[in-house]
Amino acid sequence: MNLILFGPPGAGKGTQAKILQDEHGLVQLSTGDMLRAAVAAGTELGKRSKAIMDRGDLVPDDVVVGIIADRLEKPDCAKGVIFDGFPRTVAQAKELDAMLGGRESKIDAVIELKVDDEAMVGRMESRVRENPKATRADDTPETLRKRLQVYRQNTAPLLDFYRAQGKLVSVDGMAPIEEVAAAISAILKRLNDKR
Ligand code: AMP
Repeated sequence: MNLILFGPPGAGKGTQAKILQDEHGLVQLSTGDMLRAAVAAGTELGKRSKAIMDRGDLVPDDVVVGIIADRLEKPDCAKGVIFDGFPRTVAQAKELDAMLGGRESKIDAVIELKVDDEAMVGRMESRVRENPKATRADDTPETLRKRLQVYRQNTAPLLDFYRAQGKLVSVDGMAPIEEVAAAISAILKRLNDKR
C-alpha cells in the first residue's frame, strides 16, 4: 500500500505519517527530512539545497525525484510507503507514477488533510514567536508565508491531478490529531478490504 499525505505547511502531514508508520508498518518518506539530513551532513546536495529551503522555495524536481528513486530501492520500502511532502509539483507526480509503474506498483490513495491554510500559518507563526529556538530554519514568519504561496501555486494543482485519477480522499485536518489518525485508519481499512 502506497499513500501520499497531502496538505499545506503545518497541516500535520509529518505527525500523521509517523502514526501510520507506527501503527501500520508503512515507511515514512519525507523529502523535507531527507533534505534537512543532507544539509546537516554538509553533503553537496545539502549545500545546494540549503539556501532554497531557507527562503521557502522548492528544490528542483530532478533533485527530489533522484532522492526518492534512491530511497525506493531500499528493501524496507517493499511493504509500502507514505510519501510526506512529495510530490509537490505535477512534474514530480508524473515522475513518481512512472517510477512506481516500473516496479509494478502504484499510488493507492492520496489523503488530503483539509485545513484552513491561513489559520495554520497563523498558528505556526505564533508558535515560532513564542519559542524561536525550537523551530526549523525555514519556520520564520516570512518563510512560512512564502511556503504557503508556493503550496498554492505549485502544489495545490496536484489535487486535480489525483482527483482525475480517482485517488483523492479528504479528511478534516482541523480535527484533533487522534481523530485525524482514526479517519485515515478507516480509509486504509476500506482500501485493504477492497483488495
Ligand atoms: P517540508 O519539511 O516538507 O516542509 O520541506 C521543507 C523544504 O524542503 C521545502 O520548503 C522545500 O524547500 C524542500 N522540499 C521538501 N520536499 C520537496 C519537494 N518534494 N520538492 C521540492 N522541494 C521540497
